[in-house]
Amino acid sequence: MLIDPVLETVERDLKLVDELGLQLVYVLDTHIHADHITGAGEIRRLTGCRTVVSSGTGVTCADMKSEDGDAIAFGARQIEVITTPGHTNGCVSYFCEGMVFTGDALLIRGTGRTDFQGGSAIKLYDSITRKLFALPDDKLVYPAHDYRGQTHSTIGMEKRFNPRVAGKSQAEFVKILSDLKLADPKKIHEAVPANLACGQRGLPGRV
Ligand code: FE
Repeated sequence: MLIDPVLETVERDLKLVDELGLQLVYVLDTHIHADHITGAGEIRRLTGCRTVVSSGTGVTCADMKSEDGDAIAFGARQIEVITTPGHTNGCVSYFCEGMVFTGDALLIRGTGRTDFQGGSAIKLYDSITRKLFALPDDKLVYPAHDYRGQTHSTIGMEKRFNPRVAGKSQAEFVKILSDLKLADPKKIHEAVPANLACGQRGLPGRV
């Protein structure tokens, strides 16, 4: 299973899958990304695997639309879908064997932004504090981004040290997010429509 593959690194990822002797059965996206084009559609084309997004994204080209609490089986394992809206409307996290893949909902000492694609700081606060922080403290957090080279954290550490949510009220969180005043991601106008088409819009010979 691959989570949030990027179109430009499909070859690298499939090489690793091959080297490890694995059979790829699913590609999951945590949300409709605004900063890159998903590799999901291209990987499905090359391997025949199935693609999964949450029903909240409105994407129709994926093979499976997941709902909160769904368990997706692969091999002898399963991955659980936790809807964590707020960064965008259709954001989910995936929980598997002590690890939670939080997409752009919960980052290491940070959170996703909430200023486009149906984003809502109120919803994100609830997703983080009521759903992700309800997981045991020792669960490992793997976010979709980190700009300081960190690979993972834990639920307990983010509860204690995440400056946006640790000890912060919902109102304080909303103010922090609305004060960010970030520029749009460079690829937003290209990435969002492409990702609504599973990353295959505009590629030669495809829809
Ligand atoms: Fe994102």
